[in-house]
Amino acid sequence: MRNADAVVVGAGPNGLVAALALARAGLAVDVYEAADEPGGGCRTAELTVAGFRHDICSAVHPLLLASPAFADIDLSAHGVRLLTPSVAFAHPLDGGRVVCVGSSVDEVAASLGVDGAAYARVFSPLVRDVDKILPAFLGSMRTVPAHPLVAGEFGLRGLSSARRMANGFETEEARALVAGTAAHSMLPLTAPLSGVFPRLFTALAHRFGWPVVEGGSAAIVDALVAELTSLGAHIETGRLVKGLDELPPAGTVVLDVTPRQLLEMAGDAIPRRYGRTLARYRYGPGVCKVDWALGGPVPWDAEGCREAVTVHVGGTFEEIARGEADVNAGRHPDRPYCLVTQPCVVDAHRAPAGRHTLWAYCHVPNGSDVDMTERMEAQLERFAPGFRDLILGRATSTAVDEEERNPSYVGGDINAGAATLRQMVFRPTVRWNPYRTALKGVYLCSAATPPGGGVHGMCGLGAARAALHDLGQNGAGSPEP
Ligand SMILES: Cc1cc2nc3c(=O)[nH]c(=O)nc-3n(C[C@H](O)[C@H](O)[C@H](O)COP(=O)(O)OP(=O)(O)OC[C@H]3O[C@@H](n4cnc5c(N)ncnc54)[C@H](O)[C@@H]3O)c2cc1C
Repeated sequence: MRNADAVVVGAGPNGLVAALALARAGLAVDVYEAADEPGGGCRTAELTVAGFRHDICSAVHPLLLASPAFADIDLSAHGVRLLTPSVAFAHPLDGGRVVCVGSSVDEVAASLGVDGAAYARVFSPLVRDVDKILPAFLGSMRTVPAHPLVAGEFGLRGLSSARRMANGFETEEARALVAGTAAHSMLPLTAPLSGVFPRLFTALAHRFGWPVVEGGSAAIVDALVAELTSLGAHIETGRLVKGLDELPPAGTVVLDVTPRQLLEMAGDAIPRRYGRTLARYRYGPGVCKVDWALGGPVPWDAEGCREAVTVHVGGTFEEIARGEADVNAGRHPDRPYCLVTQPCVVDAHRAPAGRHTLWAYCHVPNGSDVDMTERMEAQLERFAPGFRDLILGRATSTAVDEEERNPSYVGGDINAGAATLRQMVFRPTVRWNPYRTALKGVYLCSAATPPGGGVHGMCGLGAARAALHDLGQNGAGSPEP
């Protein structure tokens, strides 16, 4: 390879977005990726049976539509088509009951009976203001938001727990809806900030929908790679970088890795005090993921689940709260909360005609090697009797496997760090600029930096802006935080 101006380690969505911002500013950029292909948590492959394409990690992309990092990347010109189901997510309950969230707040409110008015009271203002809230939520958490009152009110309400929010509702349906969205956080549902997730994710469902990418999430990465290579950037795959001293000389080094990996890669070069703060960084629970090739659509009891791409499987608020508390206490729940997606509801390109793919994961203690397939299938069978009869093939990845597949998922933590109050605000360490490290010219751009997990590219954009600022350029189009 040539001597590049900037080296990016890790070709996940954040690494690629960082590389693109640097290349657009005129820097010669080289990217090193440990896996055999770029994409990190945004890839698609035939994991089970030939002809069945599964998203290896990310599948549902509401943040893509909202993210400033993708605003000037013409994904559609590269063939990326977002397919949005009429029901963003559904949550089945025993006895064929279900709560479904589509675009209309009024429709959901009408389906919730005595909780209808309370639902509209919470979500109508949130949906109205979500465009004002998102820039603050997707930013570095270090700047004054453009709409401080709206963002501040959202932040203050979100400080409370999901349980507190659920206590504002009477019906099992409304309370379950809160649990299903809150559990995305991997926090106990009694934890502060677990109330942010139902508010934000439900507002996103109403405002943008929860789309999948036609043919699979890898198309997003293909688009980023095409943009990058058109600007002369190089991507070398199959190259695991173990130490910063392995890298060729470059003024700027951007790492799509988490604090633990930075510590290992920097070795003795890391200033002691900064090293201690990195070592205190906390990882959250891991996931056990299963992909299935199915002979047909999932035979859900509740009709509404058949229209949704995302289904929150786990029963009532109390059941999900118990399961997530177990996970956070180091136990494997018997009846796990499962985050399920069935892309074939809107996408015929994932499987042979009439067949379906199914993707699901459940939370497990960090570093777990327990295979949860059996327990997850029992949960699916509970709400979709006959599910097991449709299975043509499956592939399971435990939390340990997740880390083996991607070193940035430490202990299987797919969010690159726990969503604790401290780490939501000061992620990864308490520094004015969260993307700079204590090593000159070295930046972090992974989901361990603000705003955290998800395919939105904002960690990458934040790191690139900081690097360009230090090079005397504000080329990424917005002031550095
Ligand atoms: C099962 C699962 C489901 C998910 N579902 C969703 C979803 O539906 N929607 C959503 O928005 N998000 C989802 N996510 C989260 C999303 O995938 C991540 O938040 C996102 O990919 C983070 O991007 P990143 O660039 O920070 O890191 P990653 O995507 O993790 O990429 C990091 C890259 O760096 C490489 N790397 C790490 N260390 C080194 C090294 N030392 N040398 C060379 N290369 C290295 C890795 O191989 C990897 O390719 C999911 C994740 C998983 C695992």
